[in-house]
Amino acid sequence: MRWAQNFYEIQDAVDENPDLRGRVLDLVDTDSIHGKALEGNGRTESLRDILSEFFEGQIGLEESFKAVSTELPQGKSPHAHDNRVFAKGWDERLVRTQASRFYNQAVLHALEEDGQESCFIPHSDEEDKDSSCTIRLAGDEAEVEVMLDRLERTYGQADYHGKVKIPEHPHCTHTIVPSSDS
Ligand SMILES: [Zn+2]
Repeated sequence: MRWAQNFYEIQDAVDENPDLRGRVLDLVDTDSIHGKALEGNGRTESLRDILSEFFEGQIGLEESFKAVSTELPQGKSPHAHDNRVFAKGWDERLVRTQASRFYNQAVLHALEEDGQESCFIPHSDEEDKDSSCTIRLAGDEAEVEVMLDRLERTYGQADYHGKVKIPEHPHCTHTIVPSSDS
């Protein structure tokens, strides 16, 4: 399997696709990550380390959630008393969001470099049927350039435009695959 058909196939997909894993790890190392839970000393670097271990297959999803709560302790955050930043499940949402973001970003970069203009977003068994990504993107083709621009504006530049994107929300299980794979 060279491409994940949904979020839960991401680890296996990068394991079988070293070029894609290399792209993901480069992005994890270098691209901006935004979020109040990451403000403060060393927290972004800790998250980068955890995501790298996840993409290298050294730790699973559940372990990644736990690693975030122990290595980015709420108590050491300047927002420690902000219950919106640290609402229950914040550790899981952070890992899911960024794992999906970096994986899909790497796929879109690979497709762009390959000269592919369109991509496909498969339905996922675990998709939330009321989410706009399910209603407006899943089961259909999309433009690589548009999907990449929306993803990078949101997750790379913290420009929270209202256009539907992948990942659309922290529990988004959609992934991007090449059109020819569909
Ligand atoms: Zn989704």
